[in-house]
Amino acid sequence: MRIELNCLQKIYPESKTGLGSITAVIPPSQWVSVLGPSGCGKSTLLKLIAGLEEKTGGSIEQGFTKKEISFVFQDAALLPWKTVIENITLPLRLRGVSRSEAEREAQPWLKKLKLEKFADHFPSQLSGGLKMRVSVARALITKPKLILMDEPFAALDEPIRIELGLELRELWKALKPTIVFVTHSITEALWLSDRVMVLQGQPGQVALDRELLFGIDRPLSLRASSDFQKTVEECFQLLRSHS
Ligand code: ADP
Ligand code: MG
Repeated sequence: MRIELNCLQKIYPESKTGLGSITAVIPPSQWVSVLGPSGCGKSTLLKLIAGLEEKTGGSIEQGFTKKEISFVFQDAALLPWKTVIENITLPLRLRGVSRSEAEREAQPWLKKLKLEKFADHFPSQLSGGLKMRVSVARALITKPKLILMDEPFAALDEPIRIELGLELRELWKALKPTIVFVTHSITEALWLSDRVMVLQGQPGQVALDRELLFGIDRPLSLRASSDFQKTVEECFQLLRSHS
């Protein structure tokens, strides 16, 4: 299922900013990263795709149902009074799946995201990296066809960020959802995804839209290659010139 944005626009009347006119076609199973300075409309773009905001211009077409979409917020957004397993199974429970069935379905995700030991912990007992893992498990348990991620790793230390990024790439390879991934890290965007969009201005417009032909497997060493570094520099210049 593809997503088609045609001159898509959202201007908030209060601030006169938001998202400028965005045109793009995102084919099924593509992982698109979105870079851009704060306030250029990245979160607005995700909300428009999710149907959480009304556009003010242009059009958006996407055939995903609400149930096929998962949203991963920047701050993990876990329910503090629920345990790890209860947080992860929540989307299934809300769909009427029994507790035992939901917990059974959660097991492979606990394993994949290395959370088995923490199933009965509460969020307050977890590090930032673990909370984010729970949030990712909760997003994936419904086997979404579209995952919208808003700076999911922003609060994490670099080594954990790299590890989670690699894990997410593995999950993507196995399940092939469409992913729209907002990040402030140029390296993360280029290393993990198949396409990068750089937004500029307020309201934001597309300054660069590039497929990243770095192959399916993304070893850490890719980041040192000259092709990779050239694209990093290109993105950096675009982000710098309008910050
Ligand atoms: P980003 O995620 O790239 O930092 P946002 O999408 O959150 O940017 O916001 C884009 C612009 O729209 C910003 O200038 C912000 O102040 C404005 N904005 C976002 N949400 C609202 C809102 N609910 N009401 C008014 N202005 C908003
Ligand atoms: Mg944002």
